Amino acid sequence: MPRDGELTGGCGCGRVRWRAKGPVLHRVHCHCVLCRKGSGAILVPWLTVERAEFAWTGERPAFYRSSAKGERSFCPVCGTKLTFTHDDSPDHIDLALGSLDDVEAGYPLDQIHGESRVAWLAVDPNLPFRSGHAPTRPTANPQPLTRDERLEGGCLCGAFRYAVTGPPLESGLCHCSMCRRATGGLAMGWAIWPRDRYRDNDGPTAAWAASAYGDRLFCPTCGASVICSSTAQPELIEVLLGGLDDPHALAPEAHGFAADAPSWLAMDDRRPRWPGPPNEGLPDDTLLRGRG
Ligand SMILES: [Zn+2]
Ligand SMILES: [Zn+2]
Ligand SMILES: [Zn+2]
Repeated sequence: MPRDGELTGGCGCGRVRWRAKGPVLHRVHCHCVLCRKGSGAILVPWLTVERAEFAWTGERPAFYRSSAKGERSFCPVCGTKLTFTHDDSPDHIDLALGSLDDVEAGYPLDQIHGESRVAWLAVDPNLPFRSGHAPTRPTANPQPLTRDERLEGGCLCGAFRYAVTGPPLESGLCHCSMCRRATGGLAMGWAIWPRDRYRDNDGPTAAWAASAYGDRLFCPTCGASVICSSTAQPELIEVLLGGLDDPHALAPEAHGFAADAPSWLAMDDRRPRWPGPPNEGLPDDTLLRGRG
């Protein structure tokens, strides 16, 4: 058990662990492209603490320099996204919300990089955008993809690239704890295509067998989660929507595992909210209303 005022977290496979003491200096939802492409999630909330109050307690993570001054860490075995540091703020470290053991402790208080917010994402409408960070696109759902429409995407460093053609068979936003850990973020958008509607450049991937159902693939260089494969249905492939070059072009149909979302998260949209897998159980409108 963490002590009072202490945060603990780590990766999905348990190798990399961290421990940090408060106070938490900033709590933000980041909508920037680097966070989205680097995670595979649609949204990455971060908690900032003093670097001196932070320590790695398990095995060391892998690091990727995502910009001239920014560095991200992830587990080289399972791909969990963990931390962000910036050379201009050497005394601070940002903790990826999805890597926290207790996500209830991670509630954000404001939002940044609204200019990159995915247009169909209506998240926490009562949380302000920081000055100069307001969304520039109105909230809007795109038209369904046509049969020949092609979407491209890839990891943050660009080594792994893929393309999908036509509308997906199924799509959703997953709130389960495994998707949260893997991406370090929230609202893991996914969509499934038949393999023959999918191509990739055979770029490098590392695979993590997260469950008996299939593998989660991520880039071994930048750590970005990109696709998932299914053991039972090898003819299908699941693409993480955060990696799309144009994430505004495809809106997922429903929320899945909504019962596992943090209680503070408000998703202000009209998508069906399934407590478990999409189309199982009864949709529940009381989920994801946030703190009000
Ligand atoms: Zn791991
Ligand atoms: Zn960001
Ligand atoms: Zn990469």
